[in-house]
Amino acid sequence: MPERPYNLNPGPAILPLEVMEQAQKELLSFKGKGLSILEISHRSKDYEAVNLEAQQDLKDLFGLPAGYKAIFLGGGASLQFGMIPMNFLAGGAADYVNTGEWAKKAMKEAKRFGTVNVAASAEDKNFSYIPALSSLKLSPSAKYVHITTNETISGTRWNAFPATGSVPLFADMSSEIGSRVIDAQRFALIYAGAQKNLGPAGVTLVIIREDLLSRCPDNIVSMLNYKTHVSNDSLYNTPPVFAIYLLGLTLKWLKKQGGLPGIEAVNNEKARILYDVIDATGFYRGTAAKADRSTMNVTFRLKTEELEAKFLEESKKEGFIGLKGHRSVGGCRASIYNAFPLEGVKDLVAFMKKFESANS
Ligand SMILES: *Cc1c(COP(=O)(O)O)cnc(C)c1O
Repeated sequence: MPERPYNLNPGPAILPLEVMEQAQKELLSFKGKGLSILEISHRSKDYEAVNLEAQQDLKDLFGLPAGYKAIFLGGGASLQFGMIPMNFLAGGAADYVNTGEWAKKAMKEAKRFGTVNVAASAEDKNFSYIPALSSLKLSPSAKYVHITTNETISGTRWNAFPATGSVPLFADMSSEIGSRVIDAQRFALIYAGAQKNLGPAGVTLVIIREDLLSRCPDNIVSMLNYKTHVSNDSLYNTPPVFAIYLLGLTLKWLKKQGGLPGIEAVNNEKARILYDVIDATGFYRGTAAKADRSTMNVTFRLKTEELEAKFLEESKKEGFIGLKGHRSVGGCRASIYNAFPLEGVKDLVAFMKKFESANS
């Protein structure tokens, strides 16, 4: 077993080693001041810089123009499932595309606040594909359209996004945020728990178009109102300071990788190598439709559950952690997020080939 096993966990997930080393180095004395980031005021100049730089780095990475705000919230992406309809549905109707377990959870919360139109669903084939854009039944009077751009459990992702006209497009990007170039301006609201691709658990990032804020009702709890957090620059209350600091370091690391174009090239290469081995002989079988395959969560099966159990056990012994599929679907899943190295994928496919020859 190597000192640090290859971490293929779906989330919380692998972080860049450099980021953790820097955090370790600075842990006891942030900016040489003799106090830890963990014990300084969130109103201090030092923290203010962390907060504002992370917001700016996000805007830079996504090429966001003025008129967009980046905010940092608690409660995970799961809280966004409820905050979105609480702020923007208000008894009306919204279009949701049911692409998987995460989309379903978002729909469940939205139903508490209004009508959920299922614009399309992939449930008929176990969420193994993304419905064609032409099949979406979008309604012009919808308050918003909600999609899940990468389904972490089934391993599918959207490659093109619906044109929604004047209806705002909202997206849960939790398991792929920052993994590829995206035309962020097509979205009115993007949210993601940081712990899959951009940082540790504890912070959720939300990118929101400011004109939406006039729609947020005044009679909801302040902490659940987007307006509160935007007008206070994510400093209305004590934010998850350490998580935001680590998110900030990860964003700087991402910039060093060449930003979204740079990381996308590596991510595409990693996914290609892995899917090539899955497709090679029929020993492994990818579960997502080829055209809709995720480059972050690679889902596959072996011929029998016994063989899968053996594969998982041996992979663990060889230092590959986290390859078990989600408990609701079984099988195998390799989560190869931004920080997972190319050579790790090369070692993984070498192991997969070896396992295949020994067991076919
Ligand atoms: C993990 C995940 C979530 C849930 O995130 P939490 O931060 O645990 O609430 C939501 N959506 C997607 C796509 C996810 O992968």
